[in-house]
Amino acid sequence: MARLVWFRNDLRLADNPALHAAVESGEDLLLLYILDERAGGASRWWLHHSLSALSGDIAARGGKLVLRRGDAVKIITGLVEEHEITGVHAARAYEPFWRETDRALDASFRALGCGLHRHLSTSLFHPERITTKSGGPFGVFTPFSKACFEAGVPATALPAPKRLQSVKVAGDALEDWGLLPINPDWAGGLRAEWTPGEAGAHARLDVFIARLVKDYAIARDFPGLAGTSKLSPHVHFGEISPRIVWHKAKAAGDGKGVQTFLKELLWREFSINLLWQHPDIRTCPIREEFTTFPWKETPGHLEAWRRGQTGIPIVDAGMRQLWQTGWMHNRVRMICASYLVKHLLIPWQAGEAWFWDTLCEADEAANGASWQWVAGCGADAAPYFRIFNPVLQGAKFDAEGAYVRCFVPELKKLPDKHIHAPWEAPAEILAGAGVKLGGSYPKPLVLPAEGRQAALDAYAQLKK
Ligand code: FAD
Repeated sequence: MARLVWFRNDLRLADNPALHAAVESGEDLLLLYILDERAGGASRWWLHHSLSALSGDIAARGGKLVLRRGDAVKIITGLVEEHEITGVHAARAYEPFWRETDRALDASFRALGCGLHRHLSTSLFHPERITTKSGGPFGVFTPFSKACFEAGVPATALPAPKRLQSVKVAGDALEDWGLLPINPDWAGGLRAEWTPGEAGAHARLDVFIARLVKDYAIARDFPGLAGTSKLSPHVHFGEISPRIVWHKAKAAGDGKGVQTFLKELLWREFSINLLWQHPDIRTCPIREEFTTFPWKETPGHLEAWRRGQTGIPIVDAGMRQLWQTGWMHNRVRMICASYLVKHLLIPWQAGEAWFWDTLCEADEAANGASWQWVAGCGADAAPYFRIFNPVLQGAKFDAEGAYVRCFVPELKKLPDKHIHAPWEAPAEILAGAGVKLGGSYPKPLVLPAEGRQAALDAYAQLKK
C-alpha cells in the first residue's frame, strides 16, 4: 500500500500540503511528476532545472522522484493499479487542462476505490472562497483584494519532511526529455540570471525582504532599478508557497512597501480567480464586444516587436530583456503589450503567445488576464482609450535611460534627452552617438502619436 504524490506546479518540499498529507498517512510514497507538454521554451528550461533540484532534494531524504511522460490519466491509473495506491495527493490546479484531467481521474478512480485529494497549494485561497456579498465571483480588483485581506491568510506553513520513504518505480531520465535548448543554446542569459529550485526561491525572497521590500512601493516602477522581487518563476512553478511569501513579507512590517507587495500577490490571486471564471482567458476576450475588434496586422510588425526591433527604445529594451533573460519588468511589459495591441493593432493573443514561449514564468492565469487588461477587454481593465505613450513612459520611469542602454547598446551614447525618441534627435547628435536610423537602429514602425490616433479610430469602429 502506498500514497501517490503527483507534483504539478508545486515543485517543493516545504509547505507542500499534498506531500505533507501523504507523509502523514505513514504509508510508502510514490513521488511522481508527469511532463506538462504545453510549456513554452523558456518555461521548459526552467522546468528542467527545477525538476533537477527537486529530484536532488528528494534523493537527499532517501526518496526518488519518478518522471513520466504521456497521458496523465493513463499513467496515474496504471500506477494506482500496479502499486496498490490508496490515495493520490496533488496541488489543486485551476488551468482548464488540469481541471479536465482531474475530472477524468475522478471518474476512473471511482471504480478503483482510490481518491484524488486536491490540496490548496498554488494559491492563497480557493477561488470559491472569495466571493461578493451575493456569493458571486469578483470582476473588480479593489473589492476582491479587500475581501482577501478580510478573509486572512492562514499562517501555518508545513515543514519539509525529513525522510521520504518511496517505492521503487521506473521512470524517464530528465535529460531524455530534451527540455534544454541545444543548437542553438539560447539559455546563456537565463543561466546568468536565475537559480531555479526551492533553495533559489528562498534565497531570492530573503534578499528581497532584507533589502528591497521597504522601497518597493516606489522602486517597483523603475525598470533600471532592482526594485521588485523577481519571484515570479519561482512562485509559478511552486518552488515556494504563496503563503510563505505572504507571511515573510508581512513579518517585515506594515510599511507602504510591504502593503504594496501584498497587493501584487493578490493580483496573482485575482488572475487565478478570473481563469477559474473564464477558462478560455488565453484566447477569448472577457468583454465579448472585443471579439470583432478591427485589428490591422501589418506584415513584419509582429516579428519586429518580438525581436526588439520596433524603433521605440523602451519597447525594444523590454523585448530584448525578455528574450535574453526570460523575464521582463512589469512596467515595461505594460508598455510593450500596449504598443503591440494599440500602436501596431496586432491582436493581444499574438503577444500572449510570444510571452508564453519566452517568459520563464508563463502562466495561463497571469499572462491571459494581464494581456486582456492591457488590451482593454479584460476584467477591471484599463479603458481602451487610455493609451500608453512609450516615449513619455520611458522619460518618466527610465529618465536617464539606464534600462534602455543596458538592453539596446547601439543607443548607449545618445544623451538622456534623446534616448527615448532618437528620431527626434538632430542629425549631428545621432552621428556623434554613432546612431544611424534605419541602419544601426530601426526607424519607428509606428510613431507614438500616429499609433495613438489609429488605435482610437479602430476603437471608434468597434463602438459603432
Ligand atoms: P513583484 O512585483 O515582485 O510581485 C510579486 C509577485 O506578485 C510576482 O512574483 C507575481 O507572482 C505576483 N504578481 C505581481 N504582479 C502581478 C500581476 N499584475 N498579475 C499577476 N501576478 C502578479 N506574471 C506571471 O507570473 N506570469 C505571466 O505569465 C505574466 N504575464 C504578464 C503579461 C503582461 C502583458 C503583463 C503586463 C504582466 C504579466 N505578469 C505575469 C504580471 C507581472 O508582470 C509579473 O508577475 C511580475 O512582473 C513578476 O516580477 P516580480 O516577481 O519581480 O514581481
